[in-house]
Amino acid sequence: MIKFIRKLNWDTNLKEYTMESDHYNDPTILGGYSVPVRVNRKSKADPTIVDAGGIRIGSSEIVIIAGPCSVETREQLMETAVAVKSAGGVILRGGAFKPRSSPYNFQGLGEEGLKFLEEARAKTGLPVVTEVMDTRLVELVAGYTDILQIGSRNMQNYPLLKEVGRLRKPVLLKRGMMATIEEFLLAAEYILSQGNEQVILCERGIRTFETSTRNTLDLSAVPMLKHLSHLPVIVDPSHGTGHRWMVPAMAKAAVAAGADGLIIEVHYKPEEALCDGHQSLSPDEFTRLMTDLRKIAQAVGRDIY
Ligand code: PEP
Ligand code: MN
Repeated sequence: MIKFIRKLNWDTNLKEYTMESDHYNDPTILGGYSVPVRVNRKSKADPTIVDAGGIRIGSSEIVIIAGPCSVETREQLMETAVAVKSAGGVILRGGAFKPRSSPYNFQGLGEEGLKFLEEARAKTGLPVVTEVMDTRLVELVAGYTDILQIGSRNMQNYPLLKEVGRLRKPVLLKRGMMATIEEFLLAAEYILSQGNEQVILCERGIRTFETSTRNTLDLSAVPMLKHLSHLPVIVDPSHGTGHRWMVPAMAKAAVAAGADGLIIEVHYKPEEALCDGHQSLSPDEFTRLMTDLRKIAQAVGRDIY
């Protein structure tokens, strides 16, 4: 017999399920909101700190992840990686398998891109994060990367969530562009339920009626997720706005709102990027932003890693 207690939490408008509940088997979950058990802050007193190749995400030190949208060439990745490192970024991003809206757009270099990422890590010492889109490729991608990224479009790809849940490697889970906070936390719960507790939540903007920005960056998700869950929360101001000129403002706002990190697109020549150049910072812009971020972090009692 499954026991559960449900009450309306006026703090959040979410109905909370206690640890005694197993709401996978509770049909009433379909009609309400819940905070799943394993990601719930009430189930774990201390915040989760994810260790990605020696970089701790979720501590008082804010982690800046940066790099190109896609790995394009060896030169592009190496030059960008060196620039990210010298500006103070501590983790390198870069997509090798790209989820492009059009099948005719650049799809990424695949395994060759993973090899370039490995080379960039060897050259700079920066751990890397890259996306995996396919259950059949989880093992391959996990063999190269320090963090596996699950993209917005795959946030509810349950077989993929379960597959990365079986690993013991950090997962960066991006919020689905149409996902509620509850759905986002349930997606994270899929990963934790398989035994992998190394999950980083990433707010990257949601679809709204607004069209002046690529997405509407929901910064209110940051305090809400931190309130509900012990998992670290980072923000992607690049996909969240779609405009290079907006990225610094929203990056600073995210740090002020309590984010544990940022993931920012940086390209050594944004005007030549094969993907998302319009929202990528140049190395100079990124360097200036890092200086400003240190001041914001200090103002809210934190440091940049
Ligand atoms: C990305 O970070 O490379 C990406 C494709 O982002 P999202 O999944 O948030 O659209
Ligand atoms: Mn991108």
